[in-house]
Amino acid sequence: MSLTPLQIQELLDENRAHECEGFGKDHVCVRIASIAELPSRFGQFQVVAFYNNRDDKEHAAFVHGDVAGAENVPVRMHSECLTGDAIGSLRCDCRDQLEAALRTIGQMENGILLYLRQEGRGIGLVNKIRAYGLQDYGYDTVEANLALGFRDDERDYSVAAHMLESLKVKSVRLLTNNPKKIDALLEFGVKLGERIPLVIPPNPYNEFYLKTKAAKSGHMMTFGSEVRLEEQMDLPVVEGMSLEQIGALHQGEG
Ligand SMILES: [Zn+2]
Ligand SMILES: [Zn+2]
Repeated sequence: MSLTPLQIQELLDENRAHECEGFGKDHVCVRIASIAELPSRFGQFQVVAFYNNRDDKEHAAFVHGDVAGAENVPVRMHSECLTGDAIGSLRCDCRDQLEAALRTIGQMENGILLYLRQEGRGIGLVNKIRAYGLQDYGYDTVEANLALGFRDDERDYSVAAHMLESLKVKSVRLLTNNPKKIDALLEFGVKLGERIPLVIPPNPYNEFYLKTKAAKSGHMMTFGSEVRLEEQMDLPVVEGMSLEQIGALHQGEG
């Protein structure tokens, strides 16, 4: 079951007049602007597009099954990565994470993927490519961001928290390997149940990458000695990794 045409109409009507004090320091308020069916290769979804009062970005939720009024809804927060998500860049693992999340949610009773338009950890596409350019000359991902005058991570999850409220989700189970995302949502009053680890099926590339990463305790090393971008902030867990390897990832995190 997903939203019926009548429920869609009600949500849109309600949201047209919605105003609130807003979430977070920037008082972010979002409104559901449009909803449609979205059959996908990962299962049956409905897409919900949002307006917000802060940036010109059009954030979206991809909803599987019935989530309005539901408890413990599996939720994945994904930050947009044009180069990875759409083009399949290997400078990061965003697309692997996106596909793994959609595949997991599509097979569950219900779930939501929040697609947040905070490209390049919130610094935008132009600046992300500038950072890539610096990395081509030997800077690492953190140094590159700092050199451009940004903090290591400019993302803000107040939009995500409000989107979940707009969708009338009562409580969520976050699909993540990163406890920091959980803290970020708790801050905005989202009720959270047990975390669901995001497990990525291995491929010839990331198998080596992840083994190296586990061995180096959190250093984002890839095929050569190039530093890999950590845009989704999650430490990927690949099918077949041992508990020790997963543990090593989390130790290297702090
Ligand atoms: Zn609001
Ligand atoms: Zn990426």
